[in-house]
Formats: sequence, structure tokens, C-alpha cells
Amino acid sequence: MKQHEMYIYQCTECNVIFGVDTTYQDHNHIVCPVCISDESLKDVGCAVAVVTREPAESKCRVCGCTESHACEGGCYWVEPDLCNRCAVAERDGERSV
Ligand SMILES: [Zn+2]
Ligand SMILES: [Zn+2]
Ligand SMILES: [Zn+2]
Repeated sequence: MKQHEMYIYQCTECNVIFGVDTTYQDHNHIVCPVCISDESLKDVGCAVAVVTREPAESKCRVCGCTESHACEGGCYWVEPDLCNRCAVAERDGERSV
């Protein structure tokens, strides 16, 4: 599980609330994503956004390969938990039956 601390800003003009990552250095240049102006921006405080799903750590349900340990020769995701190598193998298996 990953946590991202965010600064929360509100544009009172557009009535929109948006978050900026705390690693974002130049907070003086933050503008409202709607009106692209900082005139009505209000600093509402901090919040922690929790990322519960890490797509980079998905694992193939057939061979168990991951983003960092791909199949020999490389592979990519055709489904959230199925890599293209295994998808091809599954299809070939169906055809030969
Ligand atoms: Zn605005
Ligand atoms: Zn696989
Ligand atoms: Zn794979």
C-alpha cells in the first residue's frame, strides 16, 4: 500500500477542489485546473491519498511473471492478471484441441 500526501486547494470561483502532491516543489505557481488562475485559490490543508492497488505489481495468473520479472524475451499485459505470452499459449491450446 502506498501513501501520497497531498495539499488540497479550493478555487472559490469555480467551486472546485483539487489536490497537489507534496513533492510538487513550486507551490506559488499552482493554478486552478478549471480557470487556470490562482486568484481565488484557497489552501484547504493536507490530506493523505492511499493507493490501494499498485498496477506495477500485478502478477500473471498463469506463469506468475511480474512487471520486474517478465517472461523471457519480455511480455506485456493483455489482461490485468494475464500476460501476452500466456494469452497466446491459451489460445493455441484451444485451437489444437
Ligand atoms: Zn477556478
Ligand atoms: Zn504469463
Ligand atoms: Zn509474462
